[in-house]
Amino acid sequence: MNRPFIKADHPKALDDFAIFLQECMYAVNYVDAAKVLEYSENLKLLIQKLPFYMQEKWRNVVYETKSRKNIVTFSHLVEFVKKDSKKANDPVYGKDVLNTQVGKNVKRLQDNNMNIDLEDLKRLLLDETFRDEYVTFMNKVIGDGFATEVSIDDLAKKDNDVWFLPHHGVFHPRKKKIRVVFDCAAKFQDASESGYGTVTYLRLENTFDEIHCSFVMGKARVTPLKTITVPRLELTAATVAVRTNKMLLNELEIPIDGLYFGPTPSSENHGTICADDPEVRQATVRTIIKTEIPDNSSLGVEKLIAYFSSWMSLKRSVAWILKIRKELLRRVSNKKQDNKMTLVKESDSKDYTKRISLQDLKDAEHSILVYVQRQEFTDEINTLSGNKTVKATSNIRKLDPVLDGDLLRVGGRLIKSKMPEKCKHPIILPKGHHISELILRQIHMDLQHSGRNHLLAHLRETYWLINAPSAVRKLISKCVVCRRLSAPVGEQKMANLPSDRITPDEPPFSRVGVDYFGPFEVKQRRCRIKRYGAIFTCLSSRAIHLEVAASLDTSSYINVLRRFIARRGQVEKIRSDNGTNFVGAERELKKRIK
Ligand SMILES: [Zn+2]
Repeated sequence: MNRPFIKADHPKALDDFAIFLQECMYAVNYVDAAKVLEYSENLKLLIQKLPFYMQEKWRNVVYETKSRKNIVTFSHLVEFVKKDSKKANDPVYGKDVLNTQVGKNVKRLQDNNMNIDLEDLKRLLLDETFRDEYVTFMNKVIGDGFATEVSIDDLAKKDNDVWFLPHHGVFHPRKKKIRVVFDCAAKFQDASESGYGTVTYLRLENTFDEIHCSFVMGKARVTPLKTITVPRLELTAATVAVRTNKMLLNELEIPIDGLYFGPTPSSENHGTICADDPEVRQATVRTIIKTEIPDNSSLGVEKLIAYFSSWMSLKRSVAWILKIRKELLRRVSNKKQDNKMTLVKESDSKDYTKRISLQDLKDAEHSILVYVQRQEFTDEINTLSGNKTVKATSNIRKLDPVLDGDLLRVGGRLIKSKMPEKCKHPIILPKGHHISELILRQIHMDLQHSGRNHLLAHLRETYWLINAPSAVRKLISKCVVCRRLSAPVGEQKMANLPSDRITPDEPPFSRVGVDYFGPFEVKQRRCRIKRYGAIFTCLSSRAIHLEVAASLDTSSYINVLRRFIARRGQVEKIRSDNGTNFVGAERELKKRIK
């Protein structure tokens, strides 16, 4: 019973209540203790939770039930609430839906024609300068079309549709200047209850005069809690619009012909609050800004070229562009011929979605090279196409350039040679251009990172790159794979020498290292047996002493050691690789010494 009161504009709560009652209903049917709900006192408590309009309706229901000589039960109430909840929660005509869509609850401003401030009136009557300034100011505002006077007839009206902006003058006696404060939200905080927002649309018009509009972005804000006047709110919205526009101009990579800022005439709030108000209307910014569209066809190509870091990818993408361009041009010409939409044949539409061919790639390469040469050797191409020789100042004069169709090639002195034409007259490539670098890199990759001269030889089969050797050197020095392959092998830093190696003034073989080598096959009588060599090296003088060991066992090593000491004198320290024989000999010797 401690459920909250359900408000009329809260259909969801009503729905919850209906479900709650339904559950109680089951309880009433099955549990005897729940029968208390049937008492009229308890029903009354439940009724009190309902919105007032429903309480009224309930009285009708009770009256009708009683008139049919029936008793009002809990099930009647459940049915009644269920029915009303269903009505209120209808997805199409429900309360929530209607309130938001049609704007039943949009707050309309009340008639404010009684809002004349008596204090202001008194000041106007008393202070002459103030009155004069105030009247002059207001006349100017009206003359500029920012406001209109409210007619006497309108003032006499009693309905809610007529209203005006309250305003009062503030006169500073020292500054001798009047400020008039327009305050349309001073009495009506409803106006600032809603929010404001901006929407951006793009309008596209093609050459066939077809117009397409698309939504780009929208931005909605809730009005700050602090009371703000409607014109100010409008201005804030305008500011947001301008900022959004600035951001969009940065982000959209489409040339924009014109911008149009304006209020949305269909907006519900706008209609009720601002339609009659010239001040607000003026506050909305209306500007049309013309932007110059730069001739960016070459800019686009430059961007495209700079975008790729592989010659093949660039060629492929250009090939696709050319292919699609060809297809589009074909369609346009077809359209013009028939003056109607021609049905694109199945084979045709498939043709341009097919893979690009070798010829497409060759065409793409040709057009890229033509473009680059036109950019870099404009003067030379112009003079050559005018059948003149290249200027003496040109840096490709020595190459004796010739025009072969659109391409600039090396003339050279090999005309009489039997080499292929392509090799006799390579295509001239500019120095330091991105395309030259791409081509060089491609050849370098094709040749599996070969050396400088091999690369140069291959390059010159097709292209003549100005200052090629240095470009090639630069490329190879930058190539990660080549750098890794030609890098010097890492070297280990040697540790400090042990003191045995560097102790001076000692007889040779005072400190020695020993190791076995072999085996060697030795003939003894008629059989072959194994013998091992033992090498002693002096650690300080690096002198060596060789002995023969009969086998790998300890005793033969002891023999070897005896022979060595007998020949070279007493040893202070022996270093070995801890072989079994050495360790065994050491153990045996130590045992004997003990
Ligand atoms: Zn490389």
